[in-house]
Amino acid sequence: MKRNKGKLIVLSGPSGAGKSTVIAELLKRRDDISFSVSATTRQPRPGETDGVNYYFKTTGQFESMIAAGEFLEHACYAGNHYGTPRRPIEEQLAAGRNVILDIEVQGAFQVRSAMPEAPLVFLCPPNMDELERRLRGRGTDAEDKMLIRLETAKGELKLAREYDYIVINDVAEEAAAELDAIITAEQCRAADRIEFITEE
Ligand code: ADP
Ligand code: 5GP
Repeated sequence: MKRNKGKLIVLSGPSGAGKSTVIAELLKRRDDISFSVSATTRQPRPGETDGVNYYFKTTGQFESMIAAGEFLEHACYAGNHYGTPRRPIEEQLAAGRNVILDIEVQGAFQVRSAMPEAPLVFLCPPNMDELERRLRGRGTDAEDKMLIRLETAKGELKLAREYDYIVINDVAEEAAAELDAIITAEQCRAADRIEFITEE
């Protein structure tokens, strides 16, 4: 059977909404999708591995990558730089694999400009109190950094209406099932399927 190019799916949402958790669930459900590993100047958290969670870079290294045009998009978030390496995505999409990005809102809109066909999915926490509980429960951010993330969340939530889909992460498995369904629906778009229909 002929194979389409892979789909690029963008997942955004406030820090602590559960993007990493829901993506991990999604990867258990589907073997046709890869997580795009971003570059960042943020310090690794305990348990994070270079090349798996992020490519951890110095500011100088990150700036060289920008200058060399290596990013599909990049943005500054809570005082650190984050960017999506372009080449692995192009290779995977060309090979027919789907790719999911976990990126913040400014980056998501850059991807929409560069690749308007990529669906933007916004992951919401059930409410702000639960978001704060999850951020505190994760225990990875100092109090001042956590407050910046909560403040940033308010602005991010206002942009949810600009997205193509909204998923509420109350129960992570259910949120992953909705994300799974969105990807399947995107694969059924007529524009992508029409070439499989032959008129005899
Ligand atoms: P993000 O990637 O959006 O910053 P994480 O996936 O790191 O968020 O989740 C933040 C915290 O919330 C983690 O401690 C995670 O275990 C917890 N969490 C994620 N989803 C849920 C959920 N549906 N219910 C309860 N806790 C959750
Ligand atoms: P964290 O520091 O919690 O891992 O991520 C902070 C924010 O940066 C999250 O909203 C996450 O989605 C976003 N992020 C991670 N990688 C990228 C990236 O490559 N580009 C952009 N624009 N944002 C990213």
